[in-house]
Order: sequence, then C-alpha cells, then structure tokens
Amino acid sequence: MPAVTADTLALPRIPATDPAVDRDRPVTGVTTAPKGLEGEGFPVRRAFAGVDLQLLDPFVHMDQMGEVEYAPGEPKGTAWHPHRGFETVTYMIDGEFAHSDSNGGGGLITNGDTQWMTAGGGILHIEAPPEHVVAKGGLFHGFQLWVNLPANLKMTAPRYQDIPPGEIPERTQDGARIRVIAGESGGVNGPVRGIVTAPLYLDVSVPARKRFEHPVPAGHSAMVYVFEGEGEVGLDESGKGRLVQTGRLAILDDGAQLAALAGENGMRFLVIAARPLGEPVARYGPFVMNTREEIMQAMADFQAGNF
Ligand code: MN
Repeated sequence: MPAVTADTLALPRIPATDPAVDRDRPVTGVTTAPKGLEGEGFPVRRAFAGVDLQLLDPFVHMDQMGEVEYAPGEPKGTAWHPHRGFETVTYMIDGEFAHSDSNGGGGLITNGDTQWMTAGGGILHIEAPPEHVVAKGGLFHGFQLWVNLPANLKMTAPRYQDIPPGEIPERTQDGARIRVIAGESGGVNGPVRGIVTAPLYLDVSVPARKRFEHPVPAGHSAMVYVFEGEGEVGLDESGKGRLVQTGRLAILDDGAQLAALAGENGMRFLVIAARPLGEPVARYGPFVMNTREEIMQAMADFQAGNF
C-alpha cells in the first residue's frame, strides 16, 4: 500500500487564477533604438540596444533594417560572415533581400516574407539585395531578429527554412491587422515552426484610438517594438499605459496578455515573446554562446576555416 495516497495529501489549493500572471502585462521599461550602419553600410536601428540580455532572453539582438528609400545604385548588403550558436529570423516588409550560405541554403526574401536560419554549430552567409534592386533602388524595410539556442542545441546542424512567398497569414481583430510570423494568433499559426523556445512573433497594425489585446503566454519574455505611429502599451485597469513612439522598445512584465491603445495616427508594432532559456549568455559579434571559452573556440574554428 502506498504511504501517501491522494486523500492524505494536504496540498494548498491552487487558485484558479494567479493574480501575478492573470493580468495585462505592465511595461517595465522603454528604450530608444539608436541608428547605425550594418554590413556594407545599410541603415539600421538597433532595437535592443541598452537592454539587459536577461530581459530579452531568449532573444539577443534585433535590427530594424531601414526604413530607407534607396536611389539607383545605393542598395547594400553584407559581405560573407559567420554565425554560431543561435538562429536568425529575417522579416522583410518592403524590398528584397537575398540570402545564401555555406550549407547550400538560401533564398530571396521579398515583400512581406520571412526566413528562419539556424546557424547552429556554424554557418557562413551573405545577405544582399539582388542585382535588379541595386540597379533600380527603391524602398527597403525589414527586421532581423536573433533567437538564442539552448546549450544542447548550439552546435546543432545548420538549417535554412526557406518559407515560400505569401506564407505569412494575416487576420483581423477589432479593426487591427495581425500578420502571424511565428506562434499562434486567434487559432492562426505562423509559418515558422519547430523553434524550442516557442516564439510568438506578430506584426500588428492598430487603427487610430483603437484598443488591442492579445494573449502572451505567462512566464515568457515579451516586448513590443513600435515602428509606425505611437500609442500606449501595457494598459492598467484605468486604461492608461506607457507612451511608446516609433523606434522605441517596451519590455513587458509577466502576465497573461498584452493590452495597447493606438494614438491619433494609429500604431504599427512587433510583438515578440518566447520562453526564456535561463542560461548564461556570452556574445561576441556574430557568435552567441554560453561561455567565454566557447566564444574563443568559435573564433579559432572560424579562423581555421572550419565553418
Ligand atoms: Mn548574418
């Protein structure tokens, strides 16, 4: 006979709703994304600059690429460069960017499409506008997000998810337009699958003075990056939140959902959330590992031509 049976257990009753997580997520901080240049000189905003990596976990870096209207001959990309230990998600809103890598992966990322690359144990790649875009110029606007891999997957085989054009589903909710890049929104799933940290990645456009609410799994790190207009994010019971303007990032505290209110000119933003890894992060340039020794090893392996 078991020593402990169900009726001898005196566990405290778990409340149906934990007030700490069954709430709209408040904003804990707002940062401004500084402008910089990436690769051979294309303009970016460093969306996560100045934010503690623990608050971003499992994300480590995000560039807003553009928005810029190129003259003919101006479009730029990157030279060949390495990555190890994480994954990159590239989401193009306007323009075209071509990727190719040492693993035979790659593809053209066009207006409104996404591609997910697992650098894993090591990859060399190049990101560049195609020739006809260089010749013609035009609008260039997108995002590249870096998602960390857990220690046991850092050296996994590289993989390129070449997601075909038009695969990002779009849905509407109370007048808001939601493009689902990864995760689930209202029963609609994004095309990026199989990422261990279960990311939610949405591009949301909310019309002027409209309220927007969306579930975000409790316990997951979550943030909002505004790239058009402005509005209040992290609404409290009185409906007030923190003003977040274009080019700013709001970090959300724990809770069950995001609530925001668009300003006079509407608001467009990314919602980014995922399960944190809770592991030490050692980052140097294009390598994201757990320890300094692993970073040194990555540099040695790259210099020895082992990528
Ligand atoms: Mn790269």
